[in-house]
Amino acid sequence: MRETKSRFLRVKCDDCGNEQIIFDRTATQVRCLVCNRILAEPSGGKAIIKTKVLDVLDKDV
Ligand SMILES: [Zn+2]
Repeated sequence: MRETKSRFLRVKCDDCGNEQIIFDRTATQVRCLVCNRILAEPSGGKAIIKTKVLDVLDKDV
Protein backbone atom coordinates (compact mmCIF):
# COMPACT_ATOMS: atom_id res chain seq x y z
CA MET A 1 0.00 0.00 0.00
CA ARG A 2 1.35 3.38 -0.98
CA GLU A 3 -0.42 4.91 1.98
CA THR A 4 2.51 4.22 4.28
CA LYS A 5 4.93 6.14 2.14
CA SER A 6 6.28 9.40 3.46
CA ARG A 7 5.64 12.44 1.38
CA PHE A 8 6.48 16.05 1.22
CA LEU A 9 3.94 18.56 0.06
CA ARG A 10 4.57 21.86 -1.62
CA VAL A 11 1.98 24.23 -0.25
CA LYS A 12 1.09 27.85 -0.74
CA CYS A 13 -0.04 29.98 2.15
CA ASP A 14 -3.59 31.21 1.60
CA ASP A 15 -2.84 34.46 3.37
CA CYS A 16 0.52 35.68 2.08
CA GLY A 17 1.25 33.48 -0.91
CA ASN A 18 4.47 32.07 0.52
CA GLU A 19 5.38 28.64 -0.80
CA GLN A 20 7.08 26.09 1.39
CA ILE A 21 7.68 22.37 1.64
CA ILE A 22 6.05 20.50 4.50
CA PHE A 23 6.06 16.88 5.63
CA ASP A 24 2.68 15.16 5.32
CA ARG A 25 3.06 13.25 8.58
CA THR A 26 4.14 16.05 10.80
CA ALA A 27 3.82 15.56 14.55
CA THR A 28 3.65 19.27 15.22
CA GLN A 29 1.77 22.22 13.83
CA VAL A 30 3.40 23.67 10.76
CA ARG A 31 3.21 27.41 10.37
CA CYS A 32 3.92 29.72 7.49
CA LEU A 33 7.46 31.01 7.79
CA VAL A 34 6.37 34.44 6.66
CA CYS A 35 3.04 35.22 8.34
CA ASN A 36 2.78 32.45 10.96
CA ARG A 37 -0.53 31.10 9.64
CA ILE A 38 -1.15 27.44 10.47
CA LEU A 39 -0.55 25.39 7.34
CA ALA A 40 -0.89 21.86 8.73
CA GLU A 41 -1.93 20.18 11.93
CA PRO A 42 -1.02 16.71 13.20
CA SER A 43 -3.79 14.10 13.31
CA GLY A 44 -2.00 11.04 14.63
CA GLY A 45 -1.01 10.03 11.14
CA LYS A 46 -1.41 12.04 8.03
CA ALA A 47 -1.40 15.75 8.69
CA ILE A 48 -4.49 17.85 8.09
CA ILE A 49 -3.51 20.41 5.50
CA LYS A 50 -5.08 23.80 6.10
CA THR A 51 -3.97 25.56 2.98
CA LYS A 52 -3.55 25.00 -0.74
CA VAL A 53 -1.41 22.05 -1.85
CA LEU A 54 0.47 22.84 -5.05
CA ASP A 55 2.39 19.63 -5.46
CA VAL A 56 3.07 16.24 -3.87
CA LEU A 57 6.67 15.18 -3.77
CA ASP A 58 7.27 11.47 -3.31
CA LYS A 59 10.25 10.78 -1.17
CA ASP A 60 12.26 7.69 -1.93
CA VAL A 61 14.53 6.94 0.97
ZN1 LIG B 1 1.80 33.10 5.04
